[in-house]
Amino acid sequence: MTTVASNQGILYVVATPIGNLGDMVPRAVETLQTVAVIAAEDTRHSSRLLAHFDIKTPCIAYHDHSDETRVEQLIARIQAGDSVALISDAGTPLVSDPGYRLVRSARQAGVKVVPIPGACAMIAALSAAGLPSDRFAFEGFLPAKQVARCTQLQSLAADPRTLIFYEAPHRILETLQDMAQVFGAEREVVMARELTKTFETIKGSNVSELAAWVESDSNQQRGEIVLLVHGAPKPENEAMTPEHMHIMKVLLDELPVKQAAAIGAKLTGLKKNFLYDWALQQAE
Ligand code: SAM
Repeated sequence: MTTVASNQGILYVVATPIGNLGDMVPRAVETLQTVAVIAAEDTRHSSRLLAHFDIKTPCIAYHDHSDETRVEQLIARIQAGDSVALISDAGTPLVSDPGYRLVRSARQAGVKVVPIPGACAMIAALSAAGLPSDRFAFEGFLPAKQVARCTQLQSLAADPRTLIFYEAPHRILETLQDMAQVFGAEREVVMARELTKTFETIKGSNVSELAAWVESDSNQQRGEIVLLVHGAPKPENEAMTPEHMHIMKVLLDELPVKQAAAIGAKLTGLKKNFLYDWALQQAE
């Protein structure tokens, strides 16, 4: 394990608002005001945010495509005692944004990395979508080309977790139509658009209805968008719990298979045909 020298600086990973400046947390302002330098995805873009909060700290550009010397220079600077703050254009760095190379190299070099949490579009969307949030998978941006996009969707079609995607406004309609094709028209999808901003819209529906709604209103094809997809329903053979089996065995001791399946369906919520087939398999 690498140990952190106490006279070193710190790499702070600082979240910034995703639209509403009121979401800038006080600790983020304080950190950006006090570090030696801010490594920003786009210094011109960030200059507006920094001016708004009267942050005068010098800024340098950092991107994951920056050459290796930029990463090395930043790490050397932290090791020499300066603290550095990493920010992206909006939201949490590293979440579909630059920062991975810097944070990984910093940790490998034994530099202390401290997160300053704040806005993140996918978490904001998940918190308001009303979809299961106990297990979810963040999938970032889907491929831009349709064949690759459908292949990716296909690989996720049976995933039981809530799926979260970022999508560009000019592709939203095609993506919803592809989702209807691959996941089936009935799959529930929530579109969270322009979160924290004036035209914030959160709309949930089955995916074919949502696609038709987006097609009929071009305003829905603007701005920044998160798509959340209900996980795949469990295959019914996995839905048979020990309790369901017990209910069915008691019913089958007393009743013909057809009647047991019909009553079992009412008691368990499972489909009558499925329980009928299950009962026949037990008799084999
Ligand atoms: N790092 C950011 C975060 O923490 O959410 C994400 C950066 S990624 C380059 C930009 C994408 O995030 C947008 O295309 C959109 O899909 C999503 N996004 C960002 N801000 C948003 C907002 N206010 N409402 C909805 N989606 C947003």
